[in-house]
Amino acid sequence: MTNQSVWMHIGAGSFHRAHQAWYLHKLREQGDESWSIALGNIRNDAVPLLNQLAAQNGEYVLETVTPEGERDYETITSLRKILPWDSEISALVEQGANAETRVIGFTVTEAGYYLTPEFTLDLNQADVKADLSGDIRTIYGALSRILTQRVVQGGAPVTLLNCDNLRHNGERFREGFLAFLAAKGDTALADWVRTQTTSPNTMVDRITPRPTPDVAERVQAATGKQDRAAVMAESFIQWVIEDDFIAGRPALEKVGVELVESVLPWEEAKIRILNATHAAIAWAGTLIGLNYIDDSTRHPAIYQLAHDYVTQDVIPSLSPSPLDLADYRDVVLARFSNPYIKDTNQRVGADGLSKIPGMVTPTLQECYQRGAQPTATAVIPALFFLFMQRWANDDLPYSYQDGALQADALRKQFASADPLASFLSDSALFAELANDKAFHALVTRRVESLQQWLKQPELA
Ligand code: NAD
Repeated sequence: MTNQSVWMHIGAGSFHRAHQAWYLHKLREQGDESWSIALGNIRNDAVPLLNQLAAQNGEYVLETVTPEGERDYETITSLRKILPWDSEISALVEQGANAETRVIGFTVTEAGYYLTPEFTLDLNQADVKADLSGDIRTIYGALSRILTQRVVQGGAPVTLLNCDNLRHNGERFREGFLAFLAAKGDTALADWVRTQTTSPNTMVDRITPRPTPDVAERVQAATGKQDRAAVMAESFIQWVIEDDFIAGRPALEKVGVELVESVLPWEEAKIRILNATHAAIAWAGTLIGLNYIDDSTRHPAIYQLAHDYVTQDVIPSLSPSPLDLADYRDVVLARFSNPYIKDTNQRVGADGLSKIPGMVTPTLQECYQRGAQPTATAVIPALFFLFMQRWANDDLPYSYQDGALQADALRKQFASADPLASFLSDSALFAELANDKAFHALVTRRVESLQQWLKQPELA
């Protein structure tokens, strides 16, 4: 067929099967079969899954569950080609070089972009170094191989679409890729990428836990199908994309995707209302001995502090917005309360040392700039301080993962005469507020009231 367009996707994880593949499936279900997906993976960890999908003709069942516990089962049929893995990624190169491939999408995890804290490509990472000498371990090495062949075969333009959870994900990937090509000395390909590709920013959202064996059991009970590639996700789904596709795109607006000029308002709402609140709930839940996000969110005092933080401080900061922020808040809190999605406080509470400056400090600063006291936001650094104090005393119920953790220095800080003052004086966390006495006093008051609460959390 001549009118067929292919979305080649790199990254055969659970999320792609619950998100992008679902949207393309819905479009095909409406009768528009002009786009289909060819799925492959850079690393060999997805080989069993790819083999399984190939044996199932690319089809698998997606189970979704609402916060009320209603489950739904759909057979997803948008994966029309499964690209077998080999160390030279030959099937990805062949498909990606073909002009029928008009979009190359990817989900290779946040860490798959190898960026420094300043968001430039970290050329010192072993995987990046290996790719610079001709290996294929990263999205940069993979795309440089695929697009080199594409240029040989005529160089039809193509959209490179990052679907990972990264702020400004299209821009950051593109800068990383161009820096990779510069370090490789491949100016010809870099020039081609600049003019013949686009990389729109996207905001993706759907909580998709790693499938546990009970997913396949429920799928079999509900559908009679023995499916070893089944996947499970929450019922909520959202995708906002900047409408900048250089070689055409599926009619995604027909299936609920928001195509916008700038994704920034959605990104900012997600970071401050979803991600910052998620972390605050995880820290608060841990402090009162809870393990899961849903139990923690449903605790009345924790629910209230999350609700106050968004209502009193974030909504005024982000208004006006194209989103209904109060509705977004309520939907997010309902999603976190979903008892059928067992997300752990350990997973969500990780990386606090980057989350505070990236997700919380901007709201503190903006409140002061408009002459308001960020009382409701100050509870978040207060919670994180008490959480890290437990970490310093080896008193957390699990190990704490944090890419920015310098354990020895932080332990020393917590052993000082006034650990709260030294925590609040850290400009890497609080920028110029680290020197602000009013800010110190505000968080100190919130720490004191949390300490009272922790004595009898059930009363709050
Ligand atoms: P997953 O563990 O199921 O799959 C990860 C995939 O990434 C695998 O195919 C793996 O081979 C590949 N990969 C890992 N590191 C890589 C690297 N350095 N270079 C190249 N490929 C690499 O994870 P998932 O649930 O599919 O999530 C993947 C990403 O999707 C997340 O990191 C996030 O950015 C985004 N996302 C996930 C969710 C979710 O709830 N799962 C929600 C929103 C966005």
